[in-house]
Amino acid sequence: MSAADHIGARVVVEGLSRTYGDGTGLQPTDLVIEPGEFLSVLGPSGCGKSTLLRLLAGLDEPQRGRIRFGEQTVCDTASGVFVPPRARRLGMVFQDLALWPHLTAAANVGFPLRVSGVARTEIEERVADALARVDLTGAAGKMPHQLSGGQQQRVAIARALVARPALLLLDEPLSALDAALREQLRAEIRSLTTELGATTVFVTHDQAEAMSMSDRIVVMRSGRILQVGRPEELYRGPADTFVAGFVGTFNPLPSGGGVRAERVRVLADGNGTGSANGVLAHRDGTPAEALTVPATVRSAVFIGGNYHLHCEVAGVDRPWIVPHPAAHAPGTEVRLTLDAADVITPAS
Ligand code: ADP
Ligand code: MG
Repeated sequence: MSAADHIGARVVVEGLSRTYGDGTGLQPTDLVIEPGEFLSVLGPSGCGKSTLLRLLAGLDEPQRGRIRFGEQTVCDTASGVFVPPRARRLGMVFQDLALWPHLTAAANVGFPLRVSGVARTEIEERVADALARVDLTGAAGKMPHQLSGGQQQRVAIARALVARPALLLLDEPLSALDAALREQLRAEIRSLTTELGATTVFVTHDQAEAMSMSDRIVVMRSGRILQVGRPEELYRGPADTFVAGFVGTFNPLPSGGGVRAERVRVLADGNGTGSANGVLAHRDGTPAEALTVPATVRSAVFIGGNYHLHCEVAGVDRPWIVPHPAAHAPGTEVRLTLDAADVITPAS
């Protein structure tokens, strides 16, 4: 069996839990990650993202549940199976998992291979290949302190990939870098994992990162998965306003729900019926139920192509932002209308 056979395992998580005394951590969780998939885990600080990743890595043991990598059960509390991290064929990059300062870039990358007893000539070949993939061939002989933050992170990624892991685990690997570098490395990480066919779990609290990189996104809150879906699915059909706010912005309704800005239409004349507080109304000529709310324009900001009208709606605590081709003057009374199907459920 060649090492390449390990790339891109299917990962199945069943009933996995790891809670702490105060009830935080990870509540019982099911999740399937497809071979070669790039899956992001998105959620606010403390929601359990790293706990999930540590369980996948074997750095922590669950109270209950089972994890399979392909055909191999790496953890099963019911039968007492627990495969240690070293034997799980993982690549890991954590925000604070530093390079060894006394080793060159090449020696850092080759370290996992030396530990597993790979022959010297093969190590040299594979290190050269890994460094070339992250565009660092020229830096092979440099010490970590001679490299920029972005280069160091690339070395860490090469080190994670060199052993051709079944699963690549990345825990906020870009959060210490500046904005321009983050954006560049996002694209690089994504093309690298695609090229290698590696199954990847990428933890982040940054929605733009998750939206731009992922095949699918897992949105977590308070130790639970709220929703799993492709970026478009989460954006267009969020389970509730918490998910909606994590993968975009929305206008709050008096009822506590929300609506995406681009789903709101502005009626400046007497069209449409409705009421101030979210009673559903039928519009002439359409079978769909629509909601119409009166509002006052506070400002109009030209954003290129459209204006963003900032509108005050009675009973909600922040202005609605509505794209519109015309700049209504501040103080203009308008009606804002939307389809009932576009109302996002309030988060509980
Ligand atoms: P995230 O990575 O999403 O920021 P974590 O998975 O690190 O969140 O933590 C989830 C929750 O579990 C947090 O409330 C944290 O305080 C708690 N937690 C994590 N590790 C431990 C631990 N070793 N002991 C006690 N509580 C912990
Ligand atoms: Mg974390």
